[in-house]
Amino acid sequence: MPLTVTFDLEDNRRSPKQEARFVPMSHRFLEFVEQRGITATVFIVGEIARTHPQLLRRVADGGHEIGLHGLRHVALGDVGPARLADELREGRELLEDIVQTPVVGFRAPIFSLTPGTAWAVESISRAGFTYSSSVLPAANPLHGWPGAPRMPFRWDNGVVELPCPVGGAGRALVPYLGGIYLRYVPLSLARRFLRELDDRAVAWTYSHPYDIDPDEPFFTMPYAGWLTSRVLHTRRGATLPALDARIAASGGAGPPLAEVARELVSVELPLMRSR
Ligand SMILES: [Zn+2]
Repeated sequence: MPLTVTFDLEDNRRSPKQEARFVPMSHRFLEFVEQRGITATVFIVGEIARTHPQLLRRVADGGHEIGLHGLRHVALGDVGPARLADELREGRELLEDIVQTPVVGFRAPIFSLTPGTAWAVESISRAGFTYSSSVLPAANPLHGWPGAPRMPFRWDNGVVELPCPVGGAGRALVPYLGGIYLRYVPLSLARRFLRELDDRAVAWTYSHPYDIDPDEPFFTMPYAGWLTSRVLHTRRGATLPALDARIAASGGAGPPLAEVARELVSVELPLMRSR
């Protein structure tokens, strides 16, 4: 099953006084995929459209799909039901003003679409998104939705959800194709999980600018504690080679997620209630 390559473009700095390393790292990622002829899906934090419009243009000029990764990089529960729909609409408009194409995909920061924030599905739909890629169907130290379907499903308002691929068993399910797991799960195990994927599943990988930045000086990230930040700081040089190996193990790169979601519009999918 081909592996769709996605990237969460966010600014992980604690202060704007720090060097904006996410900019050169985003370029590094784009060069990586473009050298391989891959069209990626890049979920971008809306505020970055204000501060770094040229970076968005660069992503769009590469022909990649652009989705929204929140107006701010804040968990859905911390944005809250009163503000979310407005923030998502604003974020989407910020991106569309620059890239001049419809933005249809949304990924919640930190996979924060969970049983406690299911109200957000209505806001996602109201803001004009047709698909979401915001659910991690496993228990996780940050956010997760244990027991959620591991294959694409449809929310009761019609939004298609493309859950994060997980491998393993029971409580030990891990998103082996993304972030820190990309560089820590051995390739042999990743290969086994890929083989075990349900035929109806959609395989996608995710990484962040910092995941491919071995030279970033250490600091505690705004949305992670010291220990998590410490772990996130290790083995970053292994990320791109691991990504390459997983793409090869999957038999190649898949289409952007918008294309995958479009093909699922007429397919019967499991239905999930959001309230
Ligand atoms: Zn993120």
